[in-house]
Amino acid sequence: MYSLIINEIFYSIQGESLSSGLPTVFIRLTGCPLRCQYCDTAYAFNEGTKKDFNQIINEVKSFNCNNITITGGEPLSQKNIIKLLTLLHELSFNVSIETSNAISIKGLDVRTVIVLDIKTPGSKEESKNLIDNYRYLKPNDQIKFVICNLSDYEWAKAYIYKYDLYRICTVLFSPSHDEMNIKTLAENILKDNIPVRLQTQLHKVIWSNERGR
Ligand code: SF4
Repeated sequence: MYSLIINEIFYSIQGESLSSGLPTVFIRLTGCPLRCQYCDTAYAFNEGTKKDFNQIINEVKSFNCNNITITGGEPLSQKNIIKLLTLLHELSFNVSIETSNAISIKGLDVRTVIVLDIKTPGSKEESKNLIDNYRYLKPNDQIKFVICNLSDYEWAKAYIYKYDLYRICTVLFSPSHDEMNIKTLAENILKDNIPVRLQTQLHKVIWSNERGR
């Protein structure tokens, strides 16, 4: 029986991505090789319990919700996640995965919606970006930039044109909580009329930084 180290499994409102607002079960995996300066889930770096796939599926099913988001930490840092994704699809769940662009997305189950978090200079982890990942993205995937300041905004704006990212799938610009003013970000997007979608972290609007939400 396969297993994974799980930090937490919880039921909440999806706060980000094109699925924002949907009731969703989150499976948060333990471990991350990055250290973004704004990380709000550092508790997932090491805390966790080993659970086999039966335990995970039973826990997920208890919420009676068909939408699942795999998150972390960096969920691709545990290789058995690839097998869990396929199992969840075989059970007819709608599955998305939030990943940092530091680990290859090649070979993930094509039914999984990938939300690829490209690291800006403001994150302090820009050097971890894997350019090769962009060719494995599908039209229904999403690319996210967490914008820490105006210099990050200018960097991300140039980056989406450099790699033609907006032609691949939806590009999301999200202000870094406590760092980037959302109104300033919105006004810059409008001024430049760039092909991105502004988003905010809805779960933080509702529950602030409450854990398990
Ligand atoms: S990739 Fe995500 S979990 Fe890892 S340090 Fe960055 S924000 Fe935190």
